[in-house]
Amino acid sequence: FFFAANMSVKVVGDPDGQVEIIPLGSGQEVGRSCVVVRYKGKSVMFDCGVHPAHNGFDSLPYFDDVDPESIDLLLVTHYHLDHCGATPYFVQHTKFKGQVYMTHPTKALFNMVMHDFMRVGVAGTTVLFTETDLHSTMAKIETIDYHQEMSHKGIKFKCYNAGHVLGAAMFMAEIAGIRVLYTGDYSRYPDRHLMGAETPDVSPDVLIVESTYGIAEHEKREDRENRFLGWVDKIVKRGGRCLIPVFALGRAQELLLILDEHWEKHPELQQIPVYYASSLAKRCMMIFQTYINMMNDRIRRQHAYENPFHFKWIKSLDSLEYFEDAGPSVVLASPGMLQPGVSRDLFERWCTDQKSGCIFAGYSVEGTLAKQVCVQRPNEIVRQDGKSVPLAMSIEEISFSAHSDFAQTRDFIDVTEVNNVVLVHGDHNNVRKLKDRLTEEFKHKKLQVYTPKNTDTVRIKFVHENIVKVMGKVANEYPRPNQVLKGILVSKDFQHTIVDPEDIGTYTNLQLGAVRNTIIVPLNRDYSLRQILLHLHKYFLSFSSQDIVVENDEVEVVAKEITAASETAAQGQQPQHFIVIHLSPEVQLSIERPADGTTTIREVSVTWTTSKYADLIADATVVALLHLYAPPRTQVAAEIEDDVFRIKCMHQMLTQYFTGVHLDMASPTFTFMYMGEKVKIMAPLMVECSNADVKHKVSNILRRIFLTLYPLPIADEGCCC
Ligand SMILES: [Zn+2]
Ligand SMILES: [Zn+2]
Repeated sequence: FFFAANMSVKVVGDPDGQVEIIPLGSGQEVGRSCVVVRYKGKSVMFDCGVHPAHNGFDSLPYFDDVDPESIDLLLVTHYHLDHCGATPYFVQHTKFKGQVYMTHPTKALFNMVMHDFMRVGVAGTTVLFTETDLHSTMAKIETIDYHQEMSHKGIKFKCYNAGHVLGAAMFMAEIAGIRVLYTGDYSRYPDRHLMGAETPDVSPDVLIVESTYGIAEHEKREDRENRFLGWVDKIVKRGGRCLIPVFALGRAQELLLILDEHWEKHPELQQIPVYYASSLAKRCMMIFQTYINMMNDRIRRQHAYENPFHFKWIKSLDSLEYFEDAGPSVVLASPGMLQPGVSRDLFERWCTDQKSGCIFAGYSVEGTLAKQVCVQRPNEIVRQDGKSVPLAMSIEEISFSAHSDFAQTRDFIDVTEVNNVVLVHGDHNNVRKLKDRLTEEFKHKKLQVYTPKNTDTVRIKFVHENIVKVMGKVANEYPRPNQVLKGILVSKDFQHTIVDPEDIGTYTNLQLGAVRNTIIVPLNRDYSLRQILLHLHKYFLSFSSQDIVVENDEVEVVAKEITAASETAAQGQQPQHFIVIHLSPEVQLSIERPADGTTTIREVSVTWTTSKYADLIADATVVALLHLYAPPRTQVAAEIEDDVFRIKCMHQMLTQYFTGVHLDMASPTFTFMYMGEKVKIMAPLMVECSNADVKHKVSNILRRIFLTLYPLPIADEGCCC
């Protein structure tokens, strides 16, 4: 219902006020992040990643569970494969036609990472996309700055620094006043080169948040660094090789900064080489240097007098071919979870040596060798060539990944004042524990915590108010309570305006238009104007003297005969050689006066402006004109035929208003359902229906149809039923 408030009216109690959240990946798992949010017919996809423990199609999110064509917007949070890896596939190989957004550094690094991903593709698995696909995808990706306000198809969106890696963003999307914040991977603590995640300036209605670490809490940064450096020292000092598997970008840069500083402070370590085996990282360093302004104060200050990513004690290693593996060393190598690649090769080479050690510094996903080694601590491992070898090297695990922990997530929920939280990007156990703890912590405000599995839909109901602006004439008078406003409701991108039809051009982007139709009916025999008018008169008794424009005496006589009217109206502006007859305000007949001086008419044109009523009259007129073709009939036969014809016409016309109209020709009766009620019409005008309201509506429509079909004038007070 409507009520007035400052020339805005609110429509309360929206029936489809339900937000749907569907994880196509990262639902109770870490990997292939991809969450679809739907509301009011709009769809946003957050992230489009692959699962690091799977290959080919198995690594993709469950795209089949949504119609890709219905996704308006894809917002990618950062360049890690589990968040962006499926983007080229989704953009190039599905029916997705929406827009894709990333921050500038994410787009630049995405390109590098995806090239690398393509290059190291596992042999024997499906190639998800080609070089050409990637190229086309890059062309379609739009960029967005932190805090830049954008909108697409009525969806407003904005992103904030997520702290996780360079360029990582949290996205806030707003559809029809409902805000959803998707964190992606985030960290609220600053580290050596990145700022911590920001707190959005507005409170979201729904928070979709990572739960990678469940209820675990990170140790303090200094403690963590000391522990890490202690292990490195111990391994190299006992003469071993120290392997640190890392993802090529992100955390690796942080560890390099830590190691470089440590080596600088400890001359006794300086003869031990530190290598960074990633050609990808080397190429990406340029990008890191370009975006130093997006990093924290510490690194920006340092940048003022030296390049912080130009390391003094760390050498880059393009390939293992050039690696002189003699004596103790420290090697950072990707991939981070010992998937096939340099880190895996070195791990297999060194794992039998007791003096050596491997330090896992990031998060390991279920199904990878890194996870297996960390959790099970097996005595032997199976190499890529299928041979089993003993695992003798020391294994250490430390979390340097810039993910949120329990304390950060709890505080974030607190400061954002959100009431609905959806947990993703966490394995089953972590998600469950986090849900329990959060529900307990926030029981005072009845925090709703959802933990959907992949393809499960979370539905959250919102009762929200639609504000409708009243503009122009309709707003001339200050509305009274319970006043019914009349006008046209124009809705665009969830903005609603009520205007008078005349004000449409002034207050909206719409313009009023009319559709003019003309049908030319050729006549197969020679008719005089008089014959034509007499024929039409059988069908349209209602055209009166005012409706006939008379051009000369001859027609005036005809018109008088037909209508028995004493006066006629003249309309001088019509061209002399046309006779124009108005059958209704919108429908007119134009009859060309024969040029050869005879009285023979060869064709008649029917012209009308489209409206439901005018269309009916025009149709009936054309039908009536076509009846001129019919051969002469006996009076009785003609009447029967006319009746059958009219009933069929009536059936035709009824089907334009109602669906499923059944005609029983024998009675004759029409039956159909209208507004949930059974309606029966006994031709021509008897309406039967148990609901008086429905009966009234049907009768009104019927009266209009009848008017166009039967030559009898209808009593003004309504139909006879
Ligand atoms: Zn990440
Ligand atoms: Zn992630």
